[in-house]
Amino acid sequence: MDGLLYVLSGPSGVGKNTILTEVLAKRKNLTYSISATTRPPRGQEVDGVNYYFLSKQQFLAELENDGFLEWAEIYGHYYGTPKQMVLDRLHKGEHVILDVDIQGAAQIKSNYPNAILIFLYPPSIEELKRRLLERNTDDQESINKRLAYIDKELAAVSLYDYVVVNDRLDEACRRVESIIDAEEIRVRRGYWKRFLDP
Ligand code: ADP
Ligand code: 5GP
Repeated sequence: MDGLLYVLSGPSGVGKNTILTEVLAKRKNLTYSISATTRPPRGQEVDGVNYYFLSKQQFLAELENDGFLEWAEIYGHYYGTPKQMVLDRLHKGEHVILDVDIQGAAQIKSNYPNAILIFLYPPSIEELKRRLLERNTDDQESINKRLAYIDKELAAVSLYDYVVVNDRLDEACRRVESIIDAEEIRVRRGYWKRFLDP
C-alpha cells in the first residue's frame, strides 16, 4: 500500500523547518522530500541536505524532463520537488512530507487529491517579522521579498485541510503529529488492515 503524502506550508519564518526537524526525528516512517532550488545557499545550508542547489539551466532542464512533482517561482528563484524520488518512496509505503509554498500546494492538491495539506500560521504578523529577522540568515532584500508575500500566503489558508498556529513550539509540534497520526488511522486509508494480517 502506498504511503501518504503530506504538505506543510506557511509564510517564511513561521517555523516550518523547526517543526519538521522535531517531528521527523521522532518518526521513522515519515521522510522529508529535499527540494531543488536555484536560490543560493544561506547560513549553514548544505547541498543535498537542505536543498539540491541547481543552476537555472539545470533546473529548467529538469523541468523540461518532467522531473518535478510540482514547482514554482518564488522570491525570484525556482523551487521544485523531485518527482521520482517522492513517487518511489510512496510506492515503498513510506510517508513523505513536502515543504512547499502555496502555489506548489495547489498543484499537489489538484494532481494528488489524497494528499494532506497543513498550513502553519503565525501567532501574529509582528511575531512572524520578529522570527524572520531573528533567524538572521537572509539579507535585507530577501527579507523584504518575504515580507511582501505574507498577506498573499495567509489568504491561501482555505486551500488547506488543517491549520496549526505556531505559537508555542511544543504545542504546534504536538498538533502536527496528531494530524499525521489521525490521517494514518482513517478507515479509508486502509492502514489498519496491516494489523489484521497473520
Ligand atoms: P521557516 O522554515 O518557516 O522559514 P524556521 O523554522 O527557519 O522558519 O523558523 C524561523 C525562526 O523562528 C527560527 O529562528 C526559529 O528558531 C524560530 N521559531 C520557530 N518556531 C518558533 C516558536 N514557536 N517560537 C519562537 N520562535 C520560533
Ligand atoms: P526558503 O528560500 O525560505 O527556503 O523557501 C522559500 C519558500 O519556498 C518557502 O515558502 C518554501 O515553503 C518554498 N519551497 C521550498 N521548497 C519548495 C518546493 O520544492 N516547491 C515549492 N513550490 N515551494 C518550495
